[in-house]
Amino acid sequence: MGGGGAASATGPFYCPPDATIYIDTAFFGDLRTRFGSSGGPLAEMYIVAHEWGHHIQNLDGTLAASHDGQTGAGSNAVRVELQADCFAGAWAGAASGTRETGGVPLLMPITPAQIQDALSAASAIGDDRIQESMQGQVNPEACTHGSSEQRQRWFQTGFDEGAGSCDTFAPADAVL
Ligand SMILES: [Zn+2]
Repeated sequence: MGGGGAASATGPFYCPPDATIYIDTAFFGDLRTRFGSSGGPLAEMYIVAHEWGHHIQNLDGTLAASHDGQTGAGSNAVRVELQADCFAGAWAGAASGTRETGGVPLLMPITPAQIQDALSAASAIGDDRIQESMQGQVNPEACTHGSSEQRQRWFQTGFDEGAGSCDTFAPADAVL
């Protein structure tokens, strides 16, 4: 069984067994209604990029390794979420520095205030669900995210320094 069965009942999530991001577009409407049109698009892109970050983690084995049943500050569950936020920031940074043919940026420059608004909205309204590949079903209680401050900081780190700076699992990283 893949991850598709739960798509309509939950917020956006990444399903490792079929390597697919599931997003109910009604969720985006909710995001826009409750947040406003100015920050909505960035919040939407952040969510997609965050789930894409989980896909990278699925490919390199980080996602599976993080499923150790532990939650709370400093747990691998938190580290994997903060790394996905960092990857999302790396995508946003790369996209805002990349121009299409004709010179149009893929993404207009983003201010720290916009990042803060988008992430706070996204994390307040939606909580992604990582599909447990062994269970074949969504288990929200197993997912733990970092604080809003941590999520914004790691997004900013990825945005400023790129995906290579996203080692949230580094033992020496005292400040997660
Ligand atoms: Zn996540």
